[in-house]
Amino acid sequence: MLFLVDADAEARERIATALTRRFGADYEVRAAGTESEGLAILDQLKSDDVRVALIAVDLALTGDEGGIAFLERAHVIHPDASRVLLVAMDRHGTRIPFDSLAALRRATALNRIDVWVVKGGFSPEEWLYLRVQEALSTWTRLHGTHHEVLRIVGEQWSPRSHELRDTMSRNTIPYGFYPSDSERGRELIAAHRVDEARLPAAILHDGSVVHQPTTRDLAHALGVNTRPSPEVHDLVIVGAGPAGLAAALYGASEGLRTAVVEDRAIGGQAGTSSMIRNYLGFPRGISGGDLVFRAWEQALLFGAEFVFTHRATALASRNGVNAVTLSGGDEVLGRAVILASGVEYRRLGVPSLDRWTGAGLFYGAAASVGAALAGERVCVVGGANSAGQAAIHLSQFASHVTLIVRGAALEAGMSDYLVRQIQATPNVDVRLKSRIAEGHGEGRLAALEIEHAEGRRETIPSTAVFVMIGAEARTDWLGPSIRRDDHGFVLTGRDLPPDAWASDRPPLPFETSMAGVFAVGDVRHGSIKRVAEAVGEGSVAVGSVHQHLARRQPGGETARPKGRAR
Ligand SMILES: Cc1cc2nc3c(=O)[nH]c(=O)nc-3n(C[C@H](O)[C@H](O)[C@H](O)COP(=O)(O)OP(=O)(O)OC[C@H]3O[C@@H](n4cnc5c(N)ncnc54)[C@H](O)[C@@H]3O)c2cc1C
Repeated sequence: MLFLVDADAEARERIATALTRRFGADYEVRAAGTESEGLAILDQLKSDDVRVALIAVDLALTGDEGGIAFLERAHVIHPDASRVLLVAMDRHGTRIPFDSLAALRRATALNRIDVWVVKGGFSPEEWLYLRVQEALSTWTRLHGTHHEVLRIVGEQWSPRSHELRDTMSRNTIPYGFYPSDSERGRELIAAHRVDEARLPAAILHDGSVVHQPTTRDLAHALGVNTRPSPEVHDLVIVGAGPAGLAAALYGASEGLRTAVVEDRAIGGQAGTSSMIRNYLGFPRGISGGDLVFRAWEQALLFGAEFVFTHRATALASRNGVNAVTLSGGDEVLGRAVILASGVEYRRLGVPSLDRWTGAGLFYGAAASVGAALAGERVCVVGGANSAGQAAIHLSQFASHVTLIVRGAALEAGMSDYLVRQIQATPNVDVRLKSRIAEGHGEGRLAALEIEHAEGRRETIPSTAVFVMIGAEARTDWLGPSIRRDDHGFVLTGRDLPPDAWASDRPPLPFETSMAGVFAVGDVRHGSIKRVAEAVGEGSVAVGSVHQHLARRQPGGETARPKGRAR
């Protein structure tokens, strides 16, 4: 059902007709003219078990911001429905009136709407259809029946099931997860003769079953490349987060033979973000998954080679060629290397909780697990933006979210817009100056014991806890040739101490202590940990790679290996 509420009879008729014309084959379209009529119909639809995919409401339904208040009430009745706000132009049809813009800003900042559409235009092709289609595509992916290239059957709360689901979601591979004790799960087990003693199992598109698959098993089954080509590349990039993807895109598009090595998933941390609002060019925000999937596709089309499911474990320079050793034993060779390996979540360190890692205790991962937590009480630990975003995201599924923050005020670590969103979300509450002391439960996590600064302890029912308490660079594999700071972040360019650089030319921007090896994004000492910075650095570092490669041409300047006299 697509549901529309607009007090302007002529506009209502026009929009309803347009929606029916375009989407009528798949969705029923209904409309109401007043708030009370609209809420009554939505209540009735709920009782009749009708799924409402989208609720579109005029901002000026009752008074200045009536549409936003309506969407809030409608969201309680149909929490899955996409919330669309219709905003009228001024009487000249040239701009959104100032008051409407202010209301729109507030609604967006407080996460009270999903999509907004400017009413008007001659044809609905111009202003309506694209936005509605985007909203319906997102709804279908999250809540509807969608294409599945594989089906995973496993125990809902087993760590391995979680890991597989997380990897599939983060690599945007359409899949379905069916708990082994659900009706559909039991049907699949019987139909495909799945051995219940060897769960989780993946059922592939041809009906074959892979029991207890590794990520690499699934990659092979899906035809994903896991072996590097033997040639010497111009550029090898370690990590396919935003920084690595940007470097791959610019490297490949500028004619460099470029290979990217990625251990886990396209998009790195950004791929786990449910909504990125501060990236240039996306005024309505974009999910991290969508952003990085587009970037990957773009880099792939320019010719970048991706090697998945392997971790870089060593880096060495031999006769001017860098060899990156992979966890499977292969080597990728490159005349230049860009390290874009980002950071990883810091661990909580509460022993009584560790056994639930991936089965109630999650590091990041809010995006892939959210829908499975419908109606549950959950906690998020952390006081920075990623924790705030996770709390808001989870509040759409869970009955209640408690945000546990060590600091004395949310404002100390979180952007103002997120603080306001949290304060305005009724099913999110915050415990300041607190930490998790214990986890309790039998088969699965049931409750958390929180210790407050004054020593008081409180037990909070919670079936899942999402930990976002900062991150650290895992760069031990790089060895001493790549100089790092005390926290493992890689030193580059002007940050390199004099004794770390042996060439008679100054280091290029983003160049590490090993000439021809560069570091960008979160793994770089001094970076500010934002998608835009990672993308910017990944792109700009390719300029340094060109300079490095040009110097190595006959007649070009060559960096002398470290240790030689200047
Ligand atoms: C939940 C969340 C929400 C966020 N929201 C925002 C936001 O709204 N706006 C914003 O600007 N920023 C946001 N950030 C921060 C942003 O995502 C990061 O700054 C950005 O992703 C850093 O990009 P990167 O490419 O440097 O590193 P990463 O994204 O960390 O990517 C590094 C990649 O390298 C891979 N890798 C690591 N080691 C190896 C190895 N040895 N071999 C092979 N591969 C390896 C990893 O698997 C990973 O895929 C958010 C972060 C999180 C966690």
